[in-house]
Amino acid sequence: MRALLDLTAEDFHAWLQAQGQPPLRARQVRRWLFAGRAESFEQMTDLPLALRQALAAQFQVFGSRIARHLRSCDGTNKLLLRLTDEQLIECVLLLEDDRHTACISTQVGCGMGCVFCASGLAGFERNLTTGEILEQLLRLRNLLPDEQTAGMNPAARLQTAGMNPAARPKTAGMNPAARLQTAGMNPAARLSHIVVMGMGEPLANLDNLLAALDVATAKDGLGLGARHVTISTVGLPAKMRRLADLKKQYHLAVSLHAPNDALRNQIVPTNDRTGIAAILDAADYFYAQTHRQVTYEYVLLRGLNDQPRHAEELARLLQQRQAHLNLIPFNDVEGLPYQRPEQASLTDFVARLRRRGLVVHVRKRKGADIDAACGQLRRSALAPRGEQALTLSRRGAEDRREERE
Ligand code: SAH
Repeated sequence: MRALLDLTAEDFHAWLQAQGQPPLRARQVRRWLFAGRAESFEQMTDLPLALRQALAAQFQVFGSRIARHLRSCDGTNKLLLRLTDEQLIECVLLLEDDRHTACISTQVGCGMGCVFCASGLAGFERNLTTGEILEQLLRLRNLLPDEQTAGMNPAARLQTAGMNPAARPKTAGMNPAARLQTAGMNPAARLSHIVVMGMGEPLANLDNLLAALDVATAKDGLGLGARHVTISTVGLPAKMRRLADLKKQYHLAVSLHAPNDALRNQIVPTNDRTGIAAILDAADYFYAQTHRQVTYEYVLLRGLNDQPRHAEELARLLQQRQAHLNLIPFNDVEGLPYQRPEQASLTDFVARLRRRGLVVHVRKRKGADIDAACGQLRRSALAPRGEQALTLSRRGAEDRREERE
């Protein structure tokens, strides 16, 4: 059965037409999904019963099932989703006072093979569809408490939109359609940021990702600002240029991890085909086209790329650029021989870069008790029984946003 979210708007209109339904039904369904948090067609009570039945016979609202839902004591939520073909993917919700960040996957597994990363260990399976990418966003958003309408079913939620005394000043005078559109716009219930830093290489699945982000940033979708979306890439220069040419306001993060090609070839195997210079050129082009500063990510691996000479070389490489640097102390991955840097070398590394005028952030750990680093949960779920150590793992994860100073 097809997932509704995988249909393009045109496909869905054509389907409705074949059912003898007016085009406005598409908007109604969309509103139920994005504002009403509906997870089944039955819940879409203002649609004719026959249409609800026809939809239910042909489509699923969501294609995946939640295989696991882990909650960290710091508020981080992680979902392991089982897709229709039984593949598993992960997505994470990071909660802070003023930010609700979804960290999403774009592929099952990953083909890039970065030596320290859990996602690539079992290789690449397939790209996610646009619907599968969107579904992660909706499922994570639906975990957010909607304080005004907590405990209500989706029908009641939509009906009370604009009826709530607290919401009235904002929606007074609006027509019912506009009022309904503001349902789900309660800041406490909204996703504010997206980081495409889960499993997979986003730029290797760019078309499906862009289609999903179009919906995420649409007013009648999830309504996020494009500037609050960060796409993290291993560095695929041609795709970076393509993204730049679209002139979207998405934020680009480039996983550099080494200041020279010899070392980067060891850590990021795709580098021997691209090389650092071509990646930096493409990043400069992205900045020129979009006026959005590129962030460079650098995973610190003890003894391998965390030495003073690496910091100096990295500073020389990035000094002339309007670049931000995001340092990520390595998160342990079972079976891999790497370690986080010593605190003293981390401090020294940061100081050397700052002395050269670079803007440096060190990422905080989040969800450390729930395997929230990319690919880790799926890996432990795929492990043979007996090797599963899901809930009590001590492995860490990143707060996948830049730390604000
Ligand atoms: N393929 C994309 C997205 C990967 S996940 C990319 O390469 O950018 C986002 C970031 O987390 C990347 O910089 C990635 O290298 C880093 N990462 C992956 N596994 C990690 C680990 N075990 N510890 C620290 N950072 C990790």
